Amino acid sequence: MNEKEYIPKCALSIHAHPDDQEFTVAGLLASWVQAGCEVVSAIVTSGGAGSNEPSRDEDYKLELEKLREVEQTAADAVIGIRETVFLRYPDGVLEPTMALRHDLTRVIRQYKPEAVVTADPQGVFYGNGYINHPDHRAAAQAALYAVFPSSETRLIFTDLLKVGLEPHKVKRLYVHGSEKSDTWVDIAKTIDIKISALRKHVSQLGDWDPEKMVREWAAEDGKDHRLEYAEAYKVMVLDQNDEVDKNISDSTP
Ligand SMILES: [Zn+2]
Repeated sequence: MNEKEYIPKCALSIHAHPDDQEFTVAGLLASWVQAGCEVVSAIVTSGGAGSNEPSRDEDYKLELEKLREVEQTAADAVIGIRETVFLRYPDGVLEPTMALRHDLTRVIRQYKPEAVVTADPQGVFYGNGYINHPDHRAAAQAALYAVFPSSETRLIFTDLLKVGLEPHKVKRLYVHGSEKSDTWVDIAKTIDIKISALRKHVSQLGDWDPEKMVREWAAEDGKDHRLEYAEAYKVMVLDQNDEVDKNISDSTP
């Protein structure tokens, strides 16, 4: 699929933890922002479990959550994201509940994004060294089903109608981390922004500079697609009229 020219007018980026967005999809978001797209970010937990420091105990969680929200807001400012919504679910024990799907449906109906960007709820193993964090899968699954059917179906979550939130149809869903990626987005012009945004998550990075790893991942994703740096996605086109328009523009020389 050639997504080179696709720029939504507005997009919503949904992730489990502060820093997930910067590790994964920030190159795409930055390129959309540069092309005039308004991006909103929804972060499901505020990352209160993100410390293994032996001197810290439960009392530290609230402090860490506040710190990580500041870091996320700073990262979003680097990317040019318009607004960040924190849903403040507990970190580390997230489940794809109906309550979470309801909250994400509310956010989608409020901001009416043309495109939603999230992770792949099916990703369990990445390589031989990383078991995907279950919060990532839970947030992604809730996001997926908030996009369809909940946000566009009038009689699901009718309480939202009572507060004026009418159904909204998302046209495209960008899923990062899929084994069935079909779209490789060129991020050569925005990889520096992605790295700068990621560096804002100081509480998680410590002294480690993520630049080398981010460049290696992006080079790996791009190498079979004649791209220096890329992010890989599975793209769902949920509005078939949109697909017709895209085909017409793709065939234009
Ligand atoms: Zn995470």
